[in-house]
Amino acid sequence: MNFLEERIIKDGTVKPGNVLKVDNFLNHQMDVALLDEIGREFKRRFNDCKITKVLTIEASGIAIAYPVAREFGVPMVFAKKSKSVNIDGDVYVAEVESFTHKNKNNVIVSKRFLNSDDHVLIIDDFLANGCALQGLISICESAGATVEGLGIAIEKGFQIGGRVIRNLGYRLESLAIVDGMNAETGEINFREQK
Ligand code: 5GP
Repeated sequence: MNFLEERIIKDGTVKPGNVLKVDNFLNHQMDVALLDEIGREFKRRFNDCKITKVLTIEASGIAIAYPVAREFGVPMVFAKKSKSVNIDGDVYVAEVESFTHKNKNNVIVSKRFLNSDDHVLIIDDFLANGCALQGLISICESAGATVEGLGIAIEKGFQIGGRVIRNLGYRLESLAIVDGMNAETGEINFREQK
């Protein structure tokens, strides 16, 4: 088991509805040393890519993307959730359905912060059905930017997102892939990774 899998076993809890709760170390209270280690691990995995920007989505992606951007020495940009229906022409926009809140949001990135010269590493905390990542990919496409890869802290391998993104031909690296979890027993099974 790697460092993140060990921590999920120690401190994660399985909730009904296929939700893995990691709010005591990853997305509410944050273990900053663990986040730094996540940053170093993504740098190691994508070291062969020439990254100019790290892109994520608010809110919980920000804490993961920050140490990654620091490792690469590039800016981190996060897509903002926008309630406004009158979105002006200065932003790229994508519609994203939230897995946890079951609602749809427009997410926006200012055109000032992403363009066709950019080589982007997309980062998020969780991958479930893949809506968040597809929204971020679509924003990169609108900008003409190149998606070099996608890095996820925790992929739920029993949901379709990972398969969809890999089938589209993208390089997707997940630090922990949960292949099964049981809300009654609390059991969590990880996919073997090299
Ligand atoms: P997707 O768009 O892939 O369906 O869902 C990804 C987003 O939903 C992530 O950004 C994350 O915030 C949230 N999410 C999905 N599954 C879980 C989960 O099991 N636990 C937590 N805490 N968040 C999740």
